[in-house]
Amino acid sequence: MENRILDVKERIKKAAVSCGRSPDEITLIAVSKTKSPDMVKRAAGAGLTVFGENYIQEARDKIETIALNGLSWHFIGHLQRNKAKYAVKLFDLIHTVDSLKLATELDKQAEKIGKVQDVLIQVNTGMEESKSGIAEKDAMDLARDMSGLTHIKVKGLMTIPPFFDAPEKVTPFFRALRRLRNRIREANIPNIQMDELSMGMTGDFEAAIKDGATFIRVGTAIFGRRD
Ligand SMILES: *Cc1c(COP(=O)(O)O)cnc(C)c1O
Repeated sequence: MENRILDVKERIKKAAVSCGRSPDEITLIAVSKTKSPDMVKRAAGAGLTVFGENYIQEARDKIETIALNGLSWHFIGHLQRNKAKYAVKLFDLIHTVDSLKLATELDKQAEKIGKVQDVLIQVNTGMEESKSGIAEKDAMDLARDMSGLTHIKVKGLMTIPPFFDAPEKVTPFFRALRRLRNRIREANIPNIQMDELSMGMTGDFEAAIKDGATFIRVGTAIFGRRD
């Protein structure tokens, strides 16, 4: 695993430099779903600090077992409203807000614990039935609606594009997310920041970096295949 981490970091650096970006602009999120607390500790020992989880119960158990300071946890799975109260306790950034109802619940739960919760708006760029996320055409309105929620801070956008085995086929979806991010940013909505783009996984993170990703979510290339 240590070698795989070095390899991923090297690939990030190369992709960034090749398009004139600084590697420091890109945060590597190690996606640790289904992986054991010991694996996460090893990854942390090898210098990784940001971890992504998809399931609330699994994350609660894992974070408690690991009990290491200095790690940051991001939620990247589909979030049910009845789990919002756990999500605000556990995660520094929630990538998957796609409705005003969910945002309002997160706002309420964050207020209860005296936190301002950082979130991203998840956009379904491929308009796939099977995927969560708000339609591109509705994202601006959702951002406006979330603007008044004082215990939530919108930081940018996230997408999971349709699956292709050729990374270049994913590029149009990454571009669409970046353009949408720029449009919302230009609208200057109060309390809405639009600096972050969460896109790119094991198969396509280099392409995502070229299209402006600031967070890449990488599981398999770090931890190996999931069973
Ligand atoms: C599992 C998962 C990833 C990581 O996928 P890999 O292909 O293993 O890198 C990234 N993003 C989301 C939303 C995921 O669910």
